[in-house]
Amino acid sequence: MTDFNQPVGGNDLARFSGPGTFMRLPSASALNGLDVAILGIPMDIGTSWRSGTRFGPKQIRAESAILRPYNMATGAAPFDCLQVADIGDLAINTFSLPESIRIISDSYDAILKQNVIPVAMGGDHTITLPILRSIARKYGPVALVHVDAHADVNDHMFGVRETHGTVFRRAWEEGLIQPDKTYQIGLRGTGYGPDDFAEAQGWGFQQFPAHELWGQSLSDLGAEIRRDIGARPTYVTYDIDSLDPAFAPGTGTPEIGGLTTPQALQLIRALAGVNIVGCDLVEVSPPYDPSGNTGLTGANLLYELLCVLPGVTRR
Ligand code: MN
Ligand code: MN
Repeated sequence: MTDFNQPVGGNDLARFSGPGTFMRLPSASALNGLDVAILGIPMDIGTSWRSGTRFGPKQIRAESAILRPYNMATGAAPFDCLQVADIGDLAINTFSLPESIRIISDSYDAILKQNVIPVAMGGDHTITLPILRSIARKYGPVALVHVDAHADVNDHMFGVRETHGTVFRRAWEEGLIQPDKTYQIGLRGTGYGPDDFAEAQGWGFQQFPAHELWGQSLSDLGAEIRRDIGARPTYVTYDIDSLDPAFAPGTGTPEIGGLTTPQALQLIRALAGVNIVGCDLVEVSPPYDPSGNTGLTGANLLYELLCVLPGVTRR
């Protein structure tokens, strides 16, 4: 156990001090020897409404300082089993979305070459497109668990085809994902017409609108998805706006009537056993939640994702 990187403990160094990494884990500049690389992608130039997600990684890291290594509910002890480090932020070009997309994909190709599981802190949801391009180069088309208020399947936004609202249409067109193993959970809000989300069902996407999930546990849905995926390599992309704005107001495109924090935990915990090859938590926009609660929730959901990665055992 001492062979693995450990977060700095709150009884060794006061929580409000020490390294500014995720959970105060060691930072790493080299990838070799890591099982999991946590990284920030501080970008908001792909957003269509409120910006601010460029500050997401910084706030998620700051709020993550309260997290302890052992999962009291599930018994998962990720830092007993995996070598995890924070590899810092990608050097995106904040003046060019296409250039940033290329930088993300190049960086992911390098990470994946080392057989490291990338866990990203966004950033707006655009980041998931170049990530999936790299993931598909390595694994082929993957199963996709996509938790979001929005389907993000627009064809373009102002004529631009790569934005935070077009990611999963591009992923489908480019064959990056297995359409019938793509699960969109938490969809809701107003639309332009009845086909806004429904077109993607025609591609094979399995959609679970928020209103069908209100007031119920997501443990069963998560287990159903786990069984349906089987052993396929799977990517999990978690848009914080899947949560109700009461729980996560700090985001760019809030929609009322969303999922609850306990539902988020039920869903993620039910994915234990899935062959997750990468994941991200996107769309935390700190300027819209100075309380830090959205960042805190994002940090916890990333921790819960760590707890269900392949190889994590339970004490
Ligand atoms: Mn999204
Ligand atoms: Mn969204």
